[in-house]
Amino acid sequence: MPLHERDYFNQKPETRSMSLACPQCRHRDDYQVRWVRYTRKDRLPPGGDRGFYEKLRDYLYRVDDMVVCSRCRRRFEIPSHQTTIFL
Ligand SMILES: [Zn+2]
Repeated sequence: MPLHERDYFNQKPETRSMSLACPQCRHRDDYQVRWVRYTRKDRLPPGGDRGFYEKLRDYLYRVDDMVVCSRCRRRFEIPSHQTTIFL
């Protein structure tokens, strides 16, 4: 069984603040958005591919797609299509 890419990383949830404007009522606020930080493991996991491992970079993956407006309480989609940030 080849290893999945995630087997090469340690995962840690984290929350980041994002300034977002509600498309319905135009209210702008800071929202706490959940991400998962993927940090490459310190050593090659058993059965792992060294060449693949060497090329990996740490990244953040966004978990939340939606937030709830703090004024009108309607849910709206986070307008950024960026769900992965390389570190
Ligand atoms: Zn709103």
